[in-house]
Amino acid sequence: MPSIYLDNNATTPVDPLVLDAMRNCYQKNSANPASQHQLGNQARRLLEDARDSIASTLGTKIQHGDGDSLIFTSGATESNNLALRGLAGPQPGKIVTSTIEHPSLSGPAEYLKRANWDWQQISVATSGLVDLDHAATLITPDTQLVSVMLGNHETGALQPLKEISALCSAAGVPLHTDATQAVGKIPVDFHELGVDALSFSAHKFHGPAGIGGLLLKRGTNLHPLLYGGFQQLGLRPGYEPVALVVGMRVALDLWNQQTAKHEKALLDMRDQFESELQKRLPWVSITCQQSRRLPHVSNVAFPGLNRQTLMMALDQGGLACSTGSACASGSTDPSPVLQAMGLEESLVEGALRFSFGRHNQPAESHLAADLVETTARRLRSTNPSEKTVSKPPQQPAKRL
Ligand code: PMP
Repeated sequence: MPSIYLDNNATTPVDPLVLDAMRNCYQKNSANPASQHQLGNQARRLLEDARDSIASTLGTKIQHGDGDSLIFTSGATESNNLALRGLAGPQPGKIVTSTIEHPSLSGPAEYLKRANWDWQQISVATSGLVDLDHAATLITPDTQLVSVMLGNHETGALQPLKEISALCSAAGVPLHTDATQAVGKIPVDFHELGVDALSFSAHKFHGPAGIGGLLLKRGTNLHPLLYGGFQQLGLRPGYEPVALVVGMRVALDLWNQQTAKHEKALLDMRDQFESELQKRLPWVSITCQQSRRLPHVSNVAFPGLNRQTLMMALDQGGLACSTGSACASGSTDPSPVLQAMGLEESLVEGALRFSFGRHNQPAESHLAADLVETTARRLRSTNPSEKTVSKPPQQPAKRL
């Protein structure tokens, strides 16, 4: 089994304190928060306290009834579906996203397109950032919804959301952001970003899988995807899983107690890894290195090598990373994000994503760089043309 885990963008290990809190919750109170007895009320209090605490960490205050709200979902895929389809409304019109969104966002956009919506995508430069001039031509008063992510899942590039928000305000269009890779890694302030809705997911910040959220600004009109219950204002009916929500709250609290320390630790490990790699293998290229990036993501291109072959060789050597194609890790498809950025084919073909987490040790940056160096040199020496890319056997695509 690999001993160095650098695939934290796919999912993070659950923090032991999160597990303790969830175990405690399951053991002490397994009542339904919708029940009217005392145990039900107790569960409701745990749930609402967690809702208030999570919202406060993300820069807002829940005012039950008439303020901002936080809808609990099963994760960011559901939050993104709910945002896209629920905020766009029932009547076909125009929606705008970017070309580098996660498939859980572009998937519902494709669905809307099939239902006669006009889906426009803002192009992205080689810097990994959306083109604001193009955004300005697409975001017009007849647009029904704009969605642009905060931090990219493959490159880590942080998108200019404040500028996009200004364009949306001027045109009177609601703005959603997928902040899944940013929450629990960098400070995220809902109101400072100027968005109307924001998606996130607990398993990306050492919380449990199967729970996430959609923050909604006061007055935002959301249509539900599910029907059949009164929970969460009828916007996301169904049992509210108290222990998962408590786990998500504790995971975010743990990050929030020491944000600067956690962010610096991630940045130090990532930067150490990149500088060692660049010293040892001057021919590699680090995608988006000059752009504002999430502190834990490193997307490295090994021109002349095949990403899948390299990833599997590293896995055999004890390092888990990813081919960076978030929707199809495990398949041999090139990364849609790197392609949308217009990178050269050799950079796209040889790109791997290394993503650090709070549970990595600083020494692992050095060990990982060692292993990447020896593995890449070995593969390069067996592939002297540097251009001949050996095709590994196809594997079934896995969603990550
Ligand atoms: N958005 C982004 C940017 C992601 O990276 C992911 C997970 N890879 C998702 C959405 C989907 O999250 P979840 O697994 O919670 O459905």
